[in-house]
Amino acid sequence: MNAPQSRVGVLGGTFDPIHHGHLAAASEVCAQLRLDQVLLVPANGQPFKQGFDSAPAEHRLEMCRLAAEHDDRFAVSAVDIERGGVTYSVDTLTDLLAQLPDTSLYFIAGADTLSRVDQWRDPERLMELAQFVGVARPGHSLPESDVAHAWVEVPELAVSSTDIRRRVRSGAPIRYLVPHAVADYISHHDLYAGGIDD
Ligand code: ATP
Ligand code: MG
Repeated sequence: MNAPQSRVGVLGGTFDPIHHGHLAAASEVCAQLRLDQVLLVPANGQPFKQGFDSAPAEHRLEMCRLAAEHDDRFAVSAVDIERGGVTYSVDTLTDLLAQLPDTSLYFIAGADTLSRVDQWRDPERLMELAQFVGVARPGHSLPESDVAHAWVEVPELAVSSTDIRRRVRSGAPIRYLVPHAVADYISHHDLYAGGIDD
């Protein structure tokens, strides 16, 4: 008999930096859809963020690792960073499926991200590679054309990486919005304090 397929969630993003909105959504989808694991997959370069100067990939990757290290359900994949160039989700999912035989992928995305799926590279192929799981996000209405295979209700946390970067720049607190280890990492490496625009 064939082994049952593992069910793996994929949460891609710039993660500049990762915050509790990402983690709470990943955790809730994991529980509700009975996933075996959720992979956090930091993008190398985002097609919609060209010209935007994000923190270097190794920092964003390390912050994801710190955020995932105390939760067995979470793991981090550097597949997009290792491929390099602009990250397209169709490549992310293709490479992950090649690495993870007997796996069904669940691509988790916030309402803001899903409302742009039609502008993505090869959207039809994307839908074949993974089940699309939408999560609501404060301040973002649900997309007009609903591309998600499923919507999962998650605790809505009105936090964004843009807000975290602004807070760091203005000296406002970020603890309790990001994991402690991530706050320490940002402070230790002096990230977001100057220069990086949003
Ligand atoms: P930025 O403000 O720099 O765009 P972000 O907070 O939107 O950062 P991303 O790395 O762009 O974070 O998002 C990665 C994925 O996580 C996207 O699918 C996005 O919709 C989702 N996401 C981000 N923040 C939240 C949140 N607070 N609740 C639910 N989903 C979220
Ligand atoms: Mg975003």
